[in-house]
Amino acid sequence: MTTAARPASHANSASSHKPVPITVAHGDGIGPEIMQATLAMLQASGARLAIETIEIGEKVYQRGVTIGIEPSAWESLRRTRVFLKAPITTPQGGGFKSLNVTTRKTLGLYANVRPCVAYHPFVDTLHPGMDVVVVRENEEDTYAGIEHQQTREVTQCLKLISRPGSEKIVRYAFEYARANNRKKVTCFTKDNIMKLTDGLFHKVFDEIGREYPDLEKEHWIVDIGAAKLADQPEVFDVIVMPNLYGDILSDVAAQIAGSVGMAGSANLGVGCAMFEAIHGSAPRRAGQNLANPSGLLHGAIMMLVHIGQSDVAQKLHNAWLKTIEDGVHTYDIFKEGVSTQKVGTQEFAAAVVARLGQEPATLKPVRYKVGGVAALNAKTSTPARSVKQTLGVDVFVDWEENNRNPDALAKKLVAAAAGTGLKLGMVTNRGVKVWPDGFPETFCSDHWRCRYASDAGDDQPITHAQITSLLTGLANQKLDFIKTENLCAFDGQRTYSTGQGE
Ligand code: NAD
Repeated sequence: MTTAARPASHANSASSHKPVPITVAHGDGIGPEIMQATLAMLQASGARLAIETIEIGEKVYQRGVTIGIEPSAWESLRRTRVFLKAPITTPQGGGFKSLNVTTRKTLGLYANVRPCVAYHPFVDTLHPGMDVVVVRENEEDTYAGIEHQQTREVTQCLKLISRPGSEKIVRYAFEYARANNRKKVTCFTKDNIMKLTDGLFHKVFDEIGREYPDLEKEHWIVDIGAAKLADQPEVFDVIVMPNLYGDILSDVAAQIAGSVGMAGSANLGVGCAMFEAIHGSAPRRAGQNLANPSGLLHGAIMMLVHIGQSDVAQKLHNAWLKTIEDGVHTYDIFKEGVSTQKVGTQEFAAAVVARLGQEPATLKPVRYKVGGVAALNAKTSTPARSVKQTLGVDVFVDWEENNRNPDALAKKLVAAAAGTGLKLGMVTNRGVKVWPDGFPETFCSDHWRCRYASDAGDDQPITHAQITSLLTGLANQKLDFIKTENLCAFDGQRTYSTGQGE
């Protein structure tokens, strides 16, 4: 059974006047300037914060720390459990790992929340009514970072989607929608093609959606959903997506709302959270007092709600809306005839501070309640333990002899299985069946999937011993096997893809 918990805020309650410890990193490129501006706005608004500063990013990478963060910085994060982070520059190549991905995964920040709002008519946009929140799964999918080059020609990236991971993010999206008076939750997947991985995400969305009869629910295939989002974003409300689609489409959503420089992002886990702008370190704009600090400020406002200081969040957000409405704009959103004043980063912050206590007249003022964006302490379901059977094995081989003639390969593959009780059922190349009865027109790379099942029938289980003797047989045939995948059935249901043309 699944237990839904209401969004729980950080340990510090709204009524607490004690400063809340947070960890701050000033980052690279435009990071230090927008952080300085954001901290000035936070301080003037009366935010009750005890700040610990850590160093991350370029300088740390240059010291040879491949993940861009020192052990002492982790200690601060473990202590405060709240991280306000300016963007950093990730060095290209050289074995450096993305600090953002590492932080999200190490701290279990499973939910990435990215509100994308249009500020028409004060900020130019083609989509005046846009008010979309992208809820992106933050830990799984192709971001597991499991990649291999398997043959001279073929590389592979594993896409991992788990049931608990999908349940956590989908439930979060529904709880977020409820807590923030949203009406609809939309799910984007590509389950017409990725039937097992995206199919699981969609299935979990349908299952959990039934527990929220008060909310409208819909599913879109991600390609046409993305097209609709770019064309008519006002038809969407909250959109939940697996990691990769969410990464791409939240940037698109932020940009079409007005500017990538304005959107903030919350990365939430149980008991830990990180807040940032969605944009990067924009090195070309660095050191010129040009950058818009609004994205990081929006991250900081979500942080205030998270730590129970919704009163301060509301005051700051409304002062920001008034500043935008008064036409005080940084270069990225400045427009002759709409804007009244072009300002730099620190002047923009001063303009917001000067408007603390004021509310916008045309734009809708915000009203925050406690716990609007906090992560869920939700349990995931524990489905009854299913009966697992292994009904076959796919062996992948690297092979390029005989002009890559599939019949010649199949001859060796059949010989390799002699005496194992297994029989070769098909060979595919990049997913297309090339044996038996392949088409000579099919392009063949050096990467072959060879599917074996029991010679007593496709529905008969096979053993590990049979697989290992098959591998011995393949080695004896001088075939370079590079990986195996077991073909499983759970409660009699086959859970592996068929070959195209099978
Ligand atoms: P970017 O988001 O840094 O900048 C792209 C462009 O958007 C800039 O040239 C600028 O014109 C505009 N822009 C971005 N932020 C702005 C702001 N606050 N105000 C005004 N204009 C702004 O993307 P990029 O150039 O592809 O990446 C630069 C670096 O940032 C890379 O090293 C990348 O790895 C890193 N990055 C970091 C994060 C993060 O730390 N969370 C996220 C994305 C990219």
